[in-house]
Amino acid sequence: MINVAIDGPAGAGKSTLAKAVAQRLGFIYVDTGALYRAIALFVLQRGADVYDRVAVAAMLPMIDIELKYVDGEQRVYLCGENVSKIIRTPEVSAGASAVSAIAKVREFLFDLQIEMAQKNNVVMDGRDIGTVVLPNADVKIFLTASAEARAKRRYDELVQKGHDVEFEAVLKSVNERDEQDMNRAIAPLEQAKDAILIDTTELDLEESEDLLYNTIKSRIGR
Ligand code: C5P
Repeated sequence: MINVAIDGPAGAGKSTLAKAVAQRLGFIYVDTGALYRAIALFVLQRGADVYDRVAVAAMLPMIDIELKYVDGEQRVYLCGENVSKIIRTPEVSAGASAVSAIAKVREFLFDLQIEMAQKNNVVMDGRDIGTVVLPNADVKIFLTASAEARAKRRYDELVQKGHDVEFEAVLKSVNERDEQDMNRAIAPLEQAKDAILIDTTELDLEESEDLLYNTIKSRIGR
């Protein structure tokens, strides 16, 4: 199986680009952030504290997460319910970042991610795919952009979805998430030594997609 690992900070365009490129390659796109989001949703729905390691770890045995693909679209099922849409709120984003710093949560999701990569040609995106989950991936990409560019994109996306947000607040949450993701003790966000750096600050979506696709293609030779 061919495994492509794409890591990078929030809002670098990872999911949009990884999904488009996976489709062009005929690979399955695995959005691992959705898994952490599903856990955060479960914890939030029960009124528990996403920072409480003991409480969150105690909930894991009750959590069942499944990934399904419909017309190439990933759907996340949490205990049988399709939660693909409701895991996209700013509250769940912050919660995902919090629960992802808990070792037991990462262990819990590890096997599911490995299994997807063993059974399918995948483009898998996340924070620790090239460093921890798929250290032997055929291609590793570290996709980034400036914090301002990433906040602007996230802001536009939220506004388009009808959320009432302010740019400054989005920038603040992007910076907070970066800080939290890069400084956590386990599986922090960092560029794998053998990852190719792609910076999309100055590129539009189409240019970014072409650069990503061509970079991957030249590495896997198909
Ligand atoms: O990519 P997305 O924004 O959906 O990820 C939500 C959160 O999940 C991130 O802020 C990060 O803390 C966490 N995450 C992670 N490892 C991954 C994917 C996501 O820690 N492989």
